[in-house]
Amino acid sequence: MSSIPDIIIAVDGYSSTGKSTFAKLIAKEFTFLYLDSGAMYRGVTLAGMEAGVIGDGKIDEEGLRKIIGPLPLHFRQEEGATRLYLGERCIETEIRGWAVSQYVSPVSAIPWVRNWVDDRLHAFSEGGRVIMDGRDIGTTVFPNAELKIFMTADPAVRAQRRYDELVAKGESTTLEEVLANLQDRDYRDSHRPTSPLRQADDAYVLDNTHMTLHEEVVWMLGLLQGKFGLLESPGLSC
Ligand code: C5P
Repeated sequence: MSSIPDIIIAVDGYSSTGKSTFAKLIAKEFTFLYLDSGAMYRGVTLAGMEAGVIGDGKIDEEGLRKIIGPLPLHFRQEEGATRLYLGERCIETEIRGWAVSQYVSPVSAIPWVRNWVDDRLHAFSEGGRVIMDGRDIGTTVFPNAELKIFMTADPAVRAQRRYDELVAKGESTTLEEVLANLQDRDYRDSHRPTSPLRQADDAYVLDNTHMTLHEEVVWMLGLLQGKFGLLESPGLSC
């Protein structure tokens, strides 16, 4: 089903609200390119950790500035998925780990890191028909996006979902630590001076505290039908 025009869809919201899962599914249903802006911040953080300029609770900004210029971070489309690469190495697993999550919010608060990431996000989106998730997509990266979604959910529910994911991946953490990390990230992301997380005035709010993924997609379908006048429903795959 592709009677939706070639638009940009911005999906913003709090940590662990399921933005990527939702955006990936919409990308698949309606043939959009999916781009995860958080992955870029995570990639920069991982590269900084590996170069020894991020660690022991500290970020050496000058050291990070030296490595970021030529950093070969890019997305590749593989087997219907968008994956982040550092040079020839797929770093999807490493960037989602607990260690990177500890540093990514302060790294993403550095204004020149944000400019660097934004330039790349614009370049990756050049072909259009993109759904991108993050914190400032509808406010800063694509303020003119034709459709903006702002996702939220109860913090306890979000922490439980994220904790279950981490445990399934074999990470050792506690529910309390996960809740503290996501509340810390929400606070930092909402209070930084450059491009803070906030709901765009023209965003549609999706609170998925009590929703299944299927219900979220049905919600989106209703929105798209209302906005673009689609007459037929796609056979949803979820
Ligand atoms: O979406 P995800 O949780 O993977 O993003 C990791 C971190 O990157 C967020 O906690 C936030 O600090 C930062 N981020 C951001 N702006 C975006 C996307 C992510 O500041 N557009």
